Amino acid sequence: MDEHAAHMTPEEFRRHGHAAIDWIADYWASLDELPVRAQVAPGDVRRQLPATAPEDGEPFEALLDDLDRIVVPGLTHWQHPRFFAYFPANSSPAAILGDLLSSGIGAQGMIWATSPAVTEVEQVVLDWFADALGLPAAFRSDGPGGGVIQDTASTATFTALLSALHRASGGEARVGGVGDAQWRVYGSTQAHSSLVKAAMMAGLGEDAVRTIDVDPATQAIDVDALRDAIVEDVEAGRRPVMVHVAAGSTSTGAMDDLAAVAEVVRERGVWLHVDAAWAGVAAVCPEHREHLAGVEAADSFVTNPHKWLLTTFDCSTFWVRDRDALTGALSILPEYLRNAATESGEVVDYRDWHPQLGRRFRAVKLWAVLRTYGLSGLREHIRSGIALAGHVADLVAADDRFELVTEPVLSLVVFRLRAGDEQTLAAMEAVNASGEAYLSHTTVNGRAAIRLAVGSWRTTRHDVDRAWRALQEAATQA
Ligand SMILES: *Cc1c(COP(=O)(O)O)cnc(C)c1O
Repeated sequence: MDEHAAHMTPEEFRRHGHAAIDWIADYWASLDELPVRAQVAPGDVRRQLPATAPEDGEPFEALLDDLDRIVVPGLTHWQHPRFFAYFPANSSPAAILGDLLSSGIGAQGMIWATSPAVTEVEQVVLDWFADALGLPAAFRSDGPGGGVIQDTASTATFTALLSALHRASGGEARVGGVGDAQWRVYGSTQAHSSLVKAAMMAGLGEDAVRTIDVDPATQAIDVDALRDAIVEDVEAGRRPVMVHVAAGSTSTGAMDDLAAVAEVVRERGVWLHVDAAWAGVAAVCPEHREHLAGVEAADSFVTNPHKWLLTTFDCSTFWVRDRDALTGALSILPEYLRNAATESGEVVDYRDWHPQLGRRFRAVKLWAVLRTYGLSGLREHIRSGIALAGHVADLVAADDRFELVTEPVLSLVVFRLRAGDEQTLAAMEAVNASGEAYLSHTTVNGRAAIRLAVGSWRTTRHDVDRAWRALQEAATQA
């Protein structure tokens, strides 16, 4: 038999599978020596690839060779120990094996009946995780709400908005659309861009989003301004539908006062969505739950284990307090999916919990992470990231050329060169171009700042010190 022309035999699959795992382990081992940010120009990768797919099958090894030769030089290494840009999308060996097992099982979990274990494991894992974060019991699957794994926080926020519209319109939105009502959505100037995108996708348009100012020092939403905006809108006949609370903004980690916002929306029936995409997972540590005070009042909550909790992208955990609002907005039952289990009302069909129909068995990777690390291991990971960020903040404070822009939040430090914006950005770019570490920037109150977010599972104090030395050198030249 021509071994390249057909499916791999089970023996070939094992052999190549071992080689693929070896490739990953070797890749990780090589990272310390590689520049963090890709050093290629536009088109460099493309140019090395053939213009058309091969007519005849090639040996699997050829793919691994091309990963080494073409792909790795074109990668920014997100699992690099000195990746501090954006928020690291960390991973872990356990999560990767969980993801691989999910691929191997290859089940479609769109409804309970298409693979009961896919739904029920996910429900249990999300109940475990809600408890681990100290979230309200109403979010559990045995209460009125429940959790679901979404691909990203952006999708979760979009889903929250659709649920909010369903509730506020009394079910009209799913039938007649958003109509002529002047729906309004609220978030701070620091709310993630996925909020505006959700309003665009929901057909409300970006003008429906009212952007509320923040306290210049904390970058947290001005709750009085929020209250005024809602009152003004109600008096003008507009319809407040959802308030977005940032529990850890992307730019500086700013924490909106959730309890105070909850007080404002109480009795107005406005949907309260908490976006804790990055910071929410820190709540596995009881000492890092303050910023979620008031979460009992939230209608929905999202956090991303795929950012800071060792779970390979994508894994965004989303809970609602009342699952009827969510499924009311999104349920649809074509004839070919009718089945006895759905009709019995005893099962959850996750296709009603997000925009798409099909879904993979993502719960396996989160399950693998929760079981192999245990909650104590996860707390240790979070605490070590926070301690390293504290160390960075000390280094910033000890060098006159630098200053902190905001108080560090959890594992995020935001700082700048006192010399000015140009020097700040030049120093960051010099470090990134050298490949020694990778940082990203933001603007705070109109001025440039560098963000250093610790999160990778392989980062040690040595890595943080190396990044800092590179910055100091760059500051000398800037
Ligand atoms: C990263 C981030 C998001 C978006 O995350 P995705 O999962 O990539 O959609 C949303 N909100 C906040 C606060 C974030 O930090």
